[in-house]
Amino acid sequence: MNLLKIIMNNKEFIERKTKILATLGPSSNTIKKIIELSNAGANVFRLNCSHLNEKDLEEYIKKIRRAEKIIKKPIGILVDLQGPKLRIGEVSKNQNLLKKDDIFILDNSKEIGNNKRVYLSNKKIFNSVKKGHLILIDDGNIHIKVTSIKKDIIRTRVIQGGILKSNKGLNLPHSDIKTSALSTSDKKFVKVASNLDVDWIALSFVQKPSDIRELRKICNNKISIMAKIEKPSALKYINKICEIADGIMIARGDLGVELPIETIPGWQKKIIRTSRLKGKPVVVSTQMLESMTSSLTPTRAEVSDVANAVFEGADAIMLSAESASGQYPVETVKMMHKIAFSTENEKNYNSIIANQIEQTPNTTPDAIATAAKTLADELSSPIIVCYTESGSTGIKVSRVRPSQTIITITPVIETARKLSLAWGVLCFLQKDEKNLEKMIESTKITVKKSGLASSGDKVVITAGLPLKVQGTTNLIRVTSIK
Ligand code: PGA
Ligand code: MN
Repeated sequence: MNLLKIIMNNKEFIERKTKILATLGPSSNTIKKIIELSNAGANVFRLNCSHLNEKDLEEYIKKIRRAEKIIKKPIGILVDLQGPKLRIGEVSKNQNLLKKDDIFILDNSKEIGNNKRVYLSNKKIFNSVKKGHLILIDDGNIHIKVTSIKKDIIRTRVIQGGILKSNKGLNLPHSDIKTSALSTSDKKFVKVASNLDVDWIALSFVQKPSDIRELRKICNNKISIMAKIEKPSALKYINKICEIADGIMIARGDLGVELPIETIPGWQKKIIRTSRLKGKPVVVSTQMLESMTSSLTPTRAEVSDVANAVFEGADAIMLSAESASGQYPVETVKMMHKIAFSTENEKNYNSIIANQIEQTPNTTPDAIATAAKTLADELSSPIIVCYTESGSTGIKVSRVRPSQTIITITPVIETARKLSLAWGVLCFLQKDEKNLEKMIESTKITVKKSGLASSGDKVVITAGLPLKVQGTTNLIRVTSIK
């Protein structure tokens, strides 16, 4: 891949540290559009299995890889599994209005529902809910409260009414659903993803750490796993989930239904801090530039929301309907880039980002990453270089959020794609040289040619020796560009 050329052409995109994750859909399902979105600044593409079948997924993946070949820049792909999303059955075509204080029943009968009752396909719900639990229907539009449960009949009272529509989503914020983390259809999508070049797989409605382990067992080991935090039960185990998963998504859409909506900003801060502390890439998602689905100008509040996620040090910010089904996918990515880039160039940005992490885990790789940042600051190095096989050295250095550009050099294309989600990391694909000295010599030539460092600059290099072994970051070196 001719990265030098890309660097020359896209200096601003290279300099932006916060990555952009854009969902593909009907508005962006051609190779041409994928290239336009990449050139506008999208680093990773999300494929949402809630709206796809396996064949669609395969086609999307192939299109992205074709686009990648054309633009000669590594692109990350994230496949998003629906997980145990609960839904009600069908209801009749009449206006089924549920009014406050009505009695409403959820049952096991496949008959078409109405304003008195509806079918529930997931049997596990019947022994997971308890009297007094709240059930939310249709993104929280309708609230009902359980008054009694008898075998396959849940009796409820309507708390907040509304019109009941077929197959709408069901959220049960109070209940731990004793269901498998993966549905049969999720497993089919995992199979497609495992056989193709997918870098990240996200699991919706994670409830506990073992949900991640369940997914890990059936994925090929090259795929990184992202836990979507959208259930209160996941918040209970957030430390452990951050340790086990490779990345975290703050899925504010469903989280805002399951929890009082006013608590979401606070949770966003806590989840970002926990993820950053554990060194796991963290994504802020949903409604970031929602109004741009049908308008060329975002609201001021949306601009602030994107900027706030950038100030919090999120690794990536996400677009959903804006890039998947909106009228202006490319313009929205451009706008997101502008907001992130401008925010990162605020005078206080670096100190805000640096002050948010108090502790450093006391491992050798983490200590080396911290030392690399300190050295680079002291020596006014413009870049920190990491040699990385699996990507772990790159992620460790990204974790300390240095103000310098992090250049990771890897011979593995999958590593370059995976790192496209990580904060501040710019990945060069380059074959390993015979030994470290040769690597350093060729690195000096590359960075000088790219213009990222000039004659007289000192450059900090980190690596794990031996080069091919994962998680061995143990070397730090300072070299001068001639
Ligand atoms: P979804 O996840 O778009 O797949 O529902 C994100 C969210 O819930 O915010
Ligand atoms: Mn969701």
